[in-house]
Amino acid sequence: MTIRENVQKLLAELPPGVLLVAAAKGRTPQEISEAIAAGVPIIGENYVQEAERAFSVIGRRAQWHMIGHLQRNKAKRAVEIFDMIETLDSVELAHELEKHCARLGKTMPVLIEINSGREPQKSGVLPEDAETLIREVAPLPHLKVLGLMTMGPRFGNPEEARPYFQETKKLFESLKALSIPNVEMKYLSMGMSNTYRIALEEGANVVRIGTKIFGERPEG
Ligand SMILES: *Cc1c(COP(=O)(O)O)cnc(C)c1O
Repeated sequence: MTIRENVQKLLAELPPGVLLVAAAKGRTPQEISEAIAAGVPIIGENYVQEAERAFSVIGRRAQWHMIGHLQRNKAKRAVEIFDMIETLDSVELAHELEKHCARLGKTMPVLIEINSGREPQKSGVLPEDAETLIREVAPLPHLKVLGLMTMGPRFGNPEEARPYFQETKKLFESLKALSIPNVEMKYLSMGMSNTYRIALEEGANVVRIGTKIFGERPEG
């Protein structure tokens, strides 16, 4: 299957209102361009440097989402490229993003990354710490919290990811019910190539898909 066929199949399968993010780590600008030409609206990048390289070729023919861990010292370059940061997980990073967005006169949509698997080595905030972070970010005038993102632990059996998606969806709904000013709980980003169907069943409306669009990565 070509990239075009993979994208068209996915777009036909996703329910209306679900956003497809093509997870593009390790892919060439040529491959990314093919995905965009086939109808992918959003490119997800894990690394600022890789994003810059692809962005210099592709520009604003697609939207750009940061889906990898963002280091504070990359915030300045990140705000110049990205249309959304899906991986906000600290107030320090929020203040750094705010500073650079203010300088550019840009308001940055952000999702709070939830470490739903409670894995010590993973980024994201623990579910119980999400509200505190959101209340700290909400007053920053150039950031706009629009929802949550989670990876969840990696399993051989995708069904094992379901409880983590369920917990994140529950958290999403409880945060929405708080009606925090300047916060709009609109997007729930969860699910990858092997788990997106389960994530959709559990309420995701943004899915981040790499392998199923571009094929296996060289290093697997
Ligand atoms: C790589 C990646 C994906 C997509 O993974 P696939 O299994 O290739 O679909 C989704 N989200 C994040 C954060 C990623 O790094």
